[in-house]
Amino acid sequence: MTRIVIVGAGVIGLTVAFKLCHLGYEIIILSRDLPADELRPRYTSQWAGAHVRPAPVDADKEEEFQTFIEKSYKEFQRLTMVPGSSVIKVEGVEYLEFDDPKYRNPKGFYSRLPNFRHISKSDLPPSVVIGTAYDTYCLTPGVYLNYLVDRIPGTRLIRSTLKSIFDAYHYGDIVINCTGNGLLDGRLDEKWFPIRGHTLLLNPQKTPMQTITYQLKDGRWAFIIPRQNGTMILGGTKSPYNYSTEMDDKETEWLLETARKYFIEYTGPEPEIIRHNIGLRLAREGGPRVEAEVTPKGTLIHCYGFAGSGFEMSWGAADKVADLLKSATSKL
Ligand SMILES: Cc1cc2nc3c(=O)[nH]c(=O)nc-3n(C[C@H](O)[C@H](O)[C@H](O)COP(=O)(O)OP(=O)(O)OC[C@H]3O[C@@H](n4cnc5c(N)ncnc54)[C@H](O)[C@@H]3O)c2cc1C
Repeated sequence: MTRIVIVGAGVIGLTVAFKLCHLGYEIIILSRDLPADELRPRYTSQWAGAHVRPAPVDADKEEEFQTFIEKSYKEFQRLTMVPGSSVIKVEGVEYLEFDDPKYRNPKGFYSRLPNFRHISKSDLPPSVVIGTAYDTYCLTPGVYLNYLVDRIPGTRLIRSTLKSIFDAYHYGDIVINCTGNGLLDGRLDEKWFPIRGHTLLLNPQKTPMQTITYQLKDGRWAFIIPRQNGTMILGGTKSPYNYSTEMDDKETEWLLETARKYFIEYTGPEPEIIRHNIGLRLAREGGPRVEAEVTPKGTLIHCYGFAGSGFEMSWGAADKVADLLKSATSKL
C-alpha cells in the first residue's frame, strides 16, 4: 500500500489527514508543533479567530478559492451538529465605511451565502455606507484541532522539525506539504510571506450572536467573533511582511480604541482581556499553492499559503489534495 506522509499538523494538515483517512489511505503526520501543545508563536492555527468571512470577488477570478470556501462552508454547516467540534452558526454582519462596488453588487459565493442581504440604510450605523448580512460559522481553534486529531484513528503523529521537505520521504512514498510556510529543499518558497495579526480574547460583558466586521476608511478592519464558551475575539491587525510575534502596546491600544468605538455594547468600556493572540498568517503571492509536483524522490503535493483563510478554505483544499493524490497513485 502507498504510504502517505503529511508534513504539518495545523488546520490544513489535519483536515487533509481527516479526508485521506476516511478514503482509506495509510498516513503518517510529521510536525514541529502538535495540537496538544501549549500555545506556540509560529503555530498559526492556534491563533485564528476563527470564522468564515468570504470576500466578494470578480466571479472569473479566484474561482478555485471560492470553491474551497463553499465546500468548507457546507462542512461547517454539518459540524454544528457534531458535539465537540466547537463550530457554531452565527449571523455574519459586515459594515463598510466607504463605497465598494464589489460589496454593492457582489458576485460568486458571497452573493449566494444563505440569507444574504444588504442591510437597509436606516439600519446602518452612522459612519457606514454599505452593510451586508448572511448566515455563517465560527469555531474555537484549540478545540477544533483536537477534534480533528480524534477523527484520524490509526494515524501516527510524529514530532519532527524537517530541514527539507524531501526528508519526509524517509517515512513514505508520497509527501503532502502542509507546512504553511512552504518549506522546500532547505529553503522557503520565494512567494511566501507572513501577515502578522494581533487579536484579543475577551471576557465580554455580553456575548454577541453575530460576527461583526467594520472595514474602516483607512483600510484597517475591526471585528468581533463569538466563541462557543461565551468568550469573544476582538480583532484585528494585519501587517504584511512583519515577522515579529512580540507584543506591541500600540496595537493593543488601537484594538481597545475600536472596542470602545464600535463594540462597547459587548466589550464594556474596560474590556477584560483573557489573552493576546499574536500570530503570523502564512500567505503567498497569488494565493495558496495546491498542486502536485513530480520530484526525483516521488510525488510532492503542496497545500500551503492560505493567509487569513486557512480554516474557511480547509475542506475544499483537502478535497483537491485527495483528487491530486488519486491521480498520482493511479500512475504508480
Ligand atoms: C490573528 C489571526 C486570525 C485569523 N483568523 C482567521 C479566521 O477567522 N478564519 C480563517 O479561516 N483563518 C484565520 N486565520 C488564518 C489561519 O489561522 C491560517 O490560514 C491557518 O491556520 C493556516 O494553517 P496551516 O495548517 O497552513 O498552518 P499552521 O497552523 O502554521 O500549521 C503548519 C504546520 O506545519 C508545521 N511545520 C512548519 N514548518 C515545519 C518544519 N520545518 N518541519 C516540520 N513541521 C513544520 C508546523 O509545526 C504546523 O504543524 C487567522 C490567523 C491569525 C494569525
